[in-house]
Order: sequence, then C-alpha cells, then structure tokens
Amino acid sequence: MSDDKKPLGLGGGRPSSGRVKQSFSHGRSKSVVVEKKRKRVIVPGKGGPAGAQAQKAAGISDGEMERRRKALEAAQAQEAERAAKEAAETKEREEERAARRRERDEKAREEEEIARKLREREEENNAPKPEPKAEEKPAAKKAVAKKDEPVAADPAAAQAAEARGPARGPAAKRETPRDDKKQQRPSKGGEDRRRSGKLTINQALRGGDGGRQRSLASIKRKQERQRREMAGGQQEREKVVRDVQLPPAITVQELANRMAEKTNAVVKALMTNGIMATQNETIDADTAELIVEEFGHKVVRVSDADVEDAIQAIEDAPETLQPRAPVITIMGHVDHGKTSVLDALRKTNVVSGEAGGITQHIGAYQITTDDGTLLSFLDTPGHAAFTSMRARGAQVTDIVVLVVAANDGVMPQTIEAIAHSKAAGVPMIVAINKMDVVGADPNRVRTELLQHEVIVEGMSGEVQDVEISALNGTGLDKLLEAIALQAEILELKANPDRDAQGAVIEAKLDTGRGPVATVLVQAGTLRKGDIFVVGEQFGRVRALINDQGDIVDEAGPSVPVEVLGLNGTPEAGDVLNVVESEAKAREIADYRIGVAKDNRAAVGAGTTLDQLMAKAKEDENVSELPIVIKADVQGSTEAIVQAMEKVGNDEVRVRVLHSGVGAITESDVTLAEASGAPIIGFNVRANAPARNAANQKGVEIRYYSIIYNLVDDIKAAASGLLSAEIKETFIGYATIKEVFKITGVGKIGGCEVTEGVARRSAGVRLLRDNVVIHEGKLKTLKRFKDEVKEVQGGQECGMAFENYEDIREGDVIEIFETEEIERSL
Ligand code: GDP
Repeated sequence: MSDDKKPLGLGGGRPSSGRVKQSFSHGRSKSVVVEKKRKRVIVPGKGGPAGAQAQKAAGISDGEMERRRKALEAAQAQEAERAAKEAAETKEREEERAARRRERDEKAREEEEIARKLREREEENNAPKPEPKAEEKPAAKKAVAKKDEPVAADPAAAQAAEARGPARGPAAKRETPRDDKKQQRPSKGGEDRRRSGKLTINQALRGGDGGRQRSLASIKRKQERQRREMAGGQQEREKVVRDVQLPPAITVQELANRMAEKTNAVVKALMTNGIMATQNETIDADTAELIVEEFGHKVVRVSDADVEDAIQAIEDAPETLQPRAPVITIMGHVDHGKTSVLDALRKTNVVSGEAGGITQHIGAYQITTDDGTLLSFLDTPGHAAFTSMRARGAQVTDIVVLVVAANDGVMPQTIEAIAHSKAAGVPMIVAINKMDVVGADPNRVRTELLQHEVIVEGMSGEVQDVEISALNGTGLDKLLEAIALQAEILELKANPDRDAQGAVIEAKLDTGRGPVATVLVQAGTLRKGDIFVVGEQFGRVRALINDQGDIVDEAGPSVPVEVLGLNGTPEAGDVLNVVESEAKAREIADYRIGVAKDNRAAVGAGTTLDQLMAKAKEDENVSELPIVIKADVQGSTEAIVQAMEKVGNDEVRVRVLHSGVGAITESDVTLAEASGAPIIGFNVRANAPARNAANQKGVEIRYYSIIYNLVDDIKAAASGLLSAEIKETFIGYATIKEVFKITGVGKIGGCEVTEGVARRSAGVRLLRDNVVIHEGKLKTLKRFKDEVKEVQGGQECGMAFENYEDIREGDVIEIFETEEIERSL
C-alpha cells in the first residue's frame, strides 16, 4: 500500500482520514488509511460561502432558503418561550413545597407542645409513686388508673381505640383522620425516622429525656395489652352462651340483663335491625329472639304453656296416691237453708272441736262423721263463687249438696245450681230441707227435679236424696252418710308427698296480718317455709292456721288452711303451687300479671259464636258447643232448648248448659264464662251488671226475637257457615222518664239516651224489666220541638213508636240497626 493511493471513501461526504494498524496472521501487519465520514451540518446563520455553496450544492433557491430560515427562527422562539414557562412552574412548585414544609413544621411544633404537656402531667402523676410497692393490690389498681389516663388524654389513641370498637360503621372509619393512623404506626420500628418532618406524640414522648420517660416499647406493650384485654374480654363474653328466657314481651333493659350484655349494645343492635327502641321500651319476643341470636345466646321462650308445665307437670304415680277427704259445696235457692245446713253440720261434727271451742270462719272446714270419715266443706255458698272458682281454673268441689226446701220446691236458683254442677261434672246429692215445716212435700221436690234431669234414687235414678231439717237437726247424719258413700264411689286420692298444690277459697287483706288466703290443699303437703306462686301473687308460707284457729306446720290434701306470707291478695279460685325458688315464683307471677294485662286489653273483642264453634271442632275433646239460654217465657225456653238439641252434626253438637226465664244475670255470665259458652237472649236482655261482666270477661251475648233466626244461626255455626258479620248492631239505649199524651199524636215518651245514640231510622225495641215487649220503628224522634235524625247519649228527647202506644215510665228503649247480609252456601 502506498500513500498516494487514492483513499477509500464515498463520494459526496467530507471524509476525514486516519491511520489504523492492521494485524494479520504469521506476524504480518499493515498500516491502512481509514476514512471517517462526517455528518454534514448546515449552520444557517453562517450562510457565508460555505452555506451558499451548500445551498447551491443542494440546489435550493434563495426564496426557499429564506422561508426555511424564517421557520427555523420561529421554532427557536417557541423553544425559548417554553423554557421560560418551565422555569416559572418550577419556581411555583418550589414555593408550594416551602409552604407545605412550613405548615408541617407548625404542626410538629403543636404536637411537641402537646407532648410536652403530657410529659409534665405524667411527671406530676409519677411523683407520689414510690409508696405503692409496699401494698401490692392497691398499687396495681393505681398504676392502671395512671396508665389509663394518658391514653384517654391522647386524642389519637382514644380515636383509635374507638375505631376498634365492634359497633363502628364504615362511615365512622372513613372519618378517621389519616394523621391518627400514622401516629398509631410509629410503633413499627424506624418508620417514623423516615418521616423526619413529622413529630408524633410517641416520638415526642420518647424524644425528651429518655431516662425519665416511658420507653416507646413500654407504651407499645401497654397498648398491646389494652388491645388484648379488649379482644380477650369480648371473646370471653362470647364464650358464655346464655339461655335467655323470653316472655311474649320484654323491655330492652331486661333483655340486656338477661343476656348480660350492655344495654347500649342491645339498643344499637336493635337500631341496626331497624328498630328504634329505648331501654325502657318493650319489644316482642320475635324481635327479642333476633337480638338474642345476634349476640350468640340461646333463646328459651316462656309461654303460658311453659309456665303451666313448670308447675303442673307432676303426674303422680298410682302407688303414691293415698285416699283423701272429699270436698263438698252446698248449693241451692236462696232461703232454702244452705247456711243453716252448714251451721248444723258444723255444730254437731266439728273436727276435734272442743265443746264451746271458738271456731273461726276461714271459708272452709272439716268435720268427721261418726264412723270417722273426714269431710271438707266449703263454707262459701253461692253459685257464682262455685262457678267463678271453676272459671279461674280451680275445680275444687268433689260433691255438690243441693238444698231444696220441701215446702218451696224447685226454684230458679235451684235450676241454676243444677246447671252449674252439671257443667262442672260434679255429682250431686239432694238434701230436701225443712222437713219439719207443715206442708213439706218431698215428693213434689223429687218430681220437679225430674224435669231438670235430676233423677233421685227414689225415682229409680242415681242421685241420692236425703230428707233433713237443718233446724231440728234431723237427717243430718244420713246426709253425711250419703256424702261418705258418694266419696267412696269417687275414690278420691292424692299424693301427699310432693310439692303442694291448692286452690284459694277466700282471700282478704287483714289489718295486722297482711294478705291472708284460705287455701284448700289439693295435692301434696303445704308446709311452713314453702315458696309458692298463687295466681298473680307469690310468697313464702310464714304461718298456717287451720279452721280451729290453731297454728299448724303442714296441711295435706283436702285440708283447708289459712296461709300467711303472701305479697298480695290473690282471688278466690286462684291456684297455689309450691315452686323451688323465689326467683321462679316471682317470674311466674310476673308473667301471669303480663298475661292478665294482655287479656284485659284483648277482652272487648270477645269471642264470636262461630269462633267458639270452630274451637269446639278443632279441639277433639270438645265436640260440642255449650250455650246458655234465657228467654221471656217458659214456652219459648222449651222450644229453643228442643230446637237446639236437634241442631248439630257428626262433628259437633249443641249442649244447653242452662236455660231459664228472665233477664240475663251475672250468674249466667259466670256460668257461660266457665264453660266458654255464648249466652242466647230470646226477647230478654242482660241487666247492667251482667252486661258489664260479659264485656269484662269476653262472654258473647246474642239477642234474638225470632226463633228461626236463632236456630238458623246456631245451625250455621255448627256447620261453620255463620257469617262473622253482625246482622244486628246495637246502637243505644234510652230510658222513658215520663209519658205524655198528646191529642192527635198519641203517647210520647220523654226519654234520656243513656247509652250510645238514638237514631230515627233505626229499629227499636221496648224493654220492660229486660224483657222485650214490643219491636218496631219510631214514629217520631224529637229534640225539644224539632224533629231530629239523631240524639246523642246523655241528651233528652221525645220518642214515639209507630203503631204502639203501651209505653210506661221506666221502660227502656233499645235502638239497633239491622244490616242485610247475603248468606250463600
Ligand atoms: P240460705 O239463704 O239458703 O243460706 O238459707 P238460710 O240458711 O239462711 O235459711 C233461711 C231461713 O230458713 C232461715 O230463717 C232459717 O231459720 C230457715 N230454715 C233453715 N232450715 C230450716 C229447717 O230445716 N226448718 C225450718 N223450719 N226452717 C229452716
């Protein structure tokens, strides 16, 4: 290779050359000239000859060149502008950053201030520390108190603690300031060191004089401990699954107590379920159950049945049963000698009665017959007492003695007594009293009784009859014998070795002794100190007093005793049950009070005939509809009873509990209530006390004036077709205070609307002594001189019947509206 050799290169470029030594194999080497091609750069400003040359070389015209230069200049200007803008932005950002830094510093200073204050307080608290070590327990307590304080004072920690609370909603979580979270975190090692710009409380606490301050680790440990305590506490509570007893209604507070949860937590839980209830408000069992389950406890529903189960589930084994004395009630028409018979029996045969010994009236007593049989008599004659006791759930009587005066025969109350004892299914013994009286005719009594399906032995029946004279004392021993015989047939037995159960015969509030109840023990043995529940009351037997006035320690089956130690006065017929604890007794009593309250509220709704019938059908044991019939005349009564007996089908039939003539009385209502029967009034009405009693007890009274309507209704009820709608609506009562005779018009009654309203368009009935004597329409309804459409209760008005004149002072006008109801089959 030689130097003059044309260098290698490409045409057009401006090559720059250099030498490179090339090595070959076998040690040969060679130096070569290398051309480096340079990039052509056109510098516009320096147009110059080179530029012009280039221009020329490129073949670009002057005009074109000029245009290109301008474009280049414009681009340069844009570039400069952008640079300026960028510089300005950078500056702005810088300033912003500085401001933020300042802000942060400010905050840090504030925090430092808080930390300083805390430190000061802690120092103050720590000052009296040396002593506590001596006595350990109080020291521990104090220490806890002290440790708690700074935490409580620390807003961040407090908030964080709250954030850990179980009931915290998501919204609340969102509100948690970020700073707080960060402040919580410094415990995580050196993380805080990286955020040197920030001064957290922990840093501040640690940052000061380390020797005197609690270390970060200590604070961490404490927080950890607290967290563990909280979580642990919750876990522990959850572990205790309680059986929560739920009555049909319970207050929020009580529910919380029973679950051993905080009331607030329960209120919150209710709120989350959409129920706003304060702690004193009552919630129903269903709602309560939801809450109980939410808290992880178990629900135990306490219902009527449960309560009754708790105290009545004792089924006595046959071998535990021992004979007991029969309990006898004396019934009969007024003045036939009930009290006299009781007195006579008592005088001659009082149990272990010392001659002249003062006996005490406690509502019941025991006597021994000559052959040593013990008999318990209820000293509370009166059918209402008998039946109301039954209505209250106490079937006390084993045998009824029906007293009929031989000179008077069967009277309305005799019939009533028969109805009552038949309804109760209690055997009867007829005592034909006043045999000493001239004109006494026992056979007349016997035949009259036949009409009421009481067939005495003398008439080849099964009912025992004894002729007695309470006045002379004749036949009394025979009566006792008859009772003893009847008792033997009944084979009355009870288990004396169990928790006592009894029935209240009488109860009163005694000044000095407090509430006292005469209880007839029915099963088990009642002892001093026993805890019991009786109706809505409860107590502990403080003393037992027998019918002789002696204090006794115990009373077995069929023994009447006065019980002291009640918390309130029960009612006759309430059942007494001995229970294991006072808490149980209180619970049952409270529950019954609640139920009674509910029932009182529910009364008024009453039961309708078809409901009763439906119930009779549902209940397999009750395949009959009991009814009580009262009518205006004996003829109607008989006709209705006969018609009723024909009504019925395979499923259900009508049973007439009692039928009679005259107004519906309270006694009818109690009888109806005890058997869940409706009362049918045919052309008769209930008197005011009976009406009130019926309203109170929810006994249905239906009035009829056409026998076919009555039969139709009962038939329909029996086949379940009775419409629930009321055909006839009672709207008011008015009493005639004066009767005016106006020529051309006729008789007008000056009336006062005593109940409801009087409406001219309505139907009216004229009642005299609660018996319907006329039914029709009003001819006129006047208020002062004007004819009006309606007169309100308490106001006076003038009334006249269409086509009826026989109105009298004291008559009652019943106002009713009728509604036609299509009945389809
Ligand atoms: P109660 O209303 O059924 O309790 O009847 P009482 O016992 O008060 O008796 C009413 C009236 O009948 C009283 O004046 C008694 O003296 C009288 N009495 C009761 N039993 C007899 C009797 O066996 N013979 C006579 N002659 N009078 C009697």
